[in-house]
Amino acid sequence: MFTTKEDLQNHLIKLGNDLKKDKNSVLKPRCIYEEQEITLSSEGFFTPCCWLDDELYRVQPWVDTFFQSHLNIENNENIEDIFESKEWGDFWEMLINNPHNAPPVCYEYCASQKGDKEKYIKTEKISDFIFELDIIERRH
Ligand code: SF4
Repeated sequence: MFTTKEDLQNHLIKLGNDLKKDKNSVLKPRCIYEEQEITLSSEGFFTPCCWLDDELYRVQPWVDTFFQSHLNIENNENIEDIFESKEWGDFWEMLINNPHNAPPVCYEYCASQKGDKEKYIKTEKISDFIFELDIIERRH
């Protein structure tokens, strides 16, 4: 059990780094090779996927670069300006050409030896008017 947010953040860094050290673990970024979608956070920042938007990962290298004020949607006329920024370009370049420098979170979710343990449990109907809720259990 984790008693503080910092404990959990440190655990997640170790989890990703351990996967990175595993020689059977090859990073295959879902944001490049699959249809993982870009996320827009409620704070107005884009990230390459929803995992990087999770506050728990902002202490990891690269992740915080997406949360700089000049990359906020409110500070740009066109969203293309954000995606064509140096920060986004450097991130894609790193994932493709130097994946060993990727943040631990990328190994947690997108390496051949994954650390995520998301498991679908069941779908529940909430009411006649409100849709169904997928229940996903996440274990680390
Ligand atoms: S975790 Fe990293 S590699 Fe995976 S989809 Fe997100 S940004 Fe891409």
